[in-house]
Amino acid sequence: MSGGGGAHHGQVEETTERNSTGPGGPAARISAKAQTFTESVIRDMTRLALQHDAVNLAQGFPDFPCPAELKEAAKAAIDADVNQYAITWGAPGLRAAIAAKIARTYPGWSVDPETEICVTCGSTEAMIASMLALVDPGDEVVLFEPFYENYGPDAILSGAVPRLVRLRGPDWSIDEAELRAACSDRTRAIVVNTPHNPTGKVFDAAELALIAELAQRHDILVLTDEIYEHIHYLGPGGHIPPATVPGLEDRTITVNALSKTYAVTGWRVGWTVAPAPYTAAIRKVHDFLTVGAAAPLQAAGIAAMELPTSYYAELAENYRQRRDLLCGALESAGFLLRPPDGAYYVMCDTTKLDPDGDDVAFTRRLVREFGVAGVPGSSFYADPADGRHIIRFGFPKKLATLRAAQDRLRGLAR
Ligand code: PLP
Repeated sequence: MSGGGGAHHGQVEETTERNSTGPGGPAARISAKAQTFTESVIRDMTRLALQHDAVNLAQGFPDFPCPAELKEAAKAAIDADVNQYAITWGAPGLRAAIAAKIARTYPGWSVDPETEICVTCGSTEAMIASMLALVDPGDEVVLFEPFYENYGPDAILSGAVPRLVRLRGPDWSIDEAELRAACSDRTRAIVVNTPHNPTGKVFDAAELALIAELAQRHDILVLTDEIYEHIHYLGPGGHIPPATVPGLEDRTITVNALSKTYAVTGWRVGWTVAPAPYTAAIRKVHDFLTVGAAAPLQAAGIAAMELPTSYYAELAENYRQRRDLLCGALESAGFLLRPPDGAYYVMCDTTKLDPDGDDVAFTRRLVREFGVAGVPGSSFYADPADGRHIIRFGFPKKLATLRAAQDRLRGLAR
């Protein structure tokens, strides 16, 4: 499969040529693995948005400040000369704070910070380190499609064989028969992402029970990316961590980060939570990949973990307002959509606005002529044709930014 919607890479304009021949030099030789996927289409769209001064609803980073407590703690750590390597698997204070926050948030889920946590450079490293540590070349890894663009390349870099299982709109539910058929004794891991990027789906108890049944039957690990844990619109208890599902406690690797919950995507602090033997393996891989996340920012992560419960309620409510504003604007402009249950993206059907279904051309036109950037749907599917009537917009933005997008999109409806 081509990760990152590679099939369209060359069609997104104004990108740099890769693997080119230097002036008079030999052709650059790159590995077979690296040739299998391409540069991120989402970051491509961000560059295009900058060139055209567009409102960037493509890449999922907030344009509002992070909590003051985090900034103060980061500044204090720098002033205190927290400058050297932290312990490779994470500063003890941060690991203890992560375990305490998990226990507060999900009573009954107990994590040993000494043996069950590895702090990483964002959840991106947490996922690839987990796959490299726990999956062997030739193992099958089940991915739900549409997928977050990193998981395909993660599987390929681990030598694994991706098995795709389709989430079906409008509610992006799992087809039970399809998931059962995809799982076998060859399956090493199922990658869950809940709340889900790009669809906004939040996996429910019945779906997680099905995954638990299959995982136990075939001795499968669950790698779950819960970076949007606190961003959902279902109220208390709406998000169920797979690690708390009966039968999955001993076979789940939970991936998380400061990035989205605390609006610090550039800080690059994430972590894994997993049973001790799996954590030991992840720690070894992590050590050789990156050694560790920035020490002063790990110190500031403690302040994040100690924020009161009210922070998370406000976070969800603020995101609800952003979601409602953007979804209303998109519907008025002619997109068809189902408001997401979680995360901060909305998948829009473009059939009315782009009957031909050329998602890349349509997305480029939106940037150039209307000044709003989204991500072509084909980026989220192995077969680009499956995403040709889809565009994804993100709303981790100030209401003023979303209103600017609303104004620009009015032109589309005319
Ligand atoms: N996982 C998912 C599902 C995401 O949507 C993103 C960012 O968009 C990431 C991981 C990246 O996380 P991090 O910045 O912590 O590496």
